[in-house]
Amino acid sequence: MHVPEIQRKIDELKQDLLFWENYLKDLQQNCQHTFEGETLYRKCLHCEKIEVLYY
Ligand SMILES: [Zn+2]
Repeated sequence: MHVPEIQRKIDELKQDLLFWENYLKDLQQNCQHTFEGETLYRKCLHCEKIEVLYY
């Protein structure tokens, strides 16, 4: 593989990453969270968003 190809591939993957990060953010923002308790953090059953708990 030549360098320009590799750079193009990296750029593509960055775009993909950005897309999926935004997708996940949207999904977690619009979720009606149902958190399942843990000792130090709890996780939403639907979107897997994690909330850290401080005691
Ligand atoms: Zn959720």
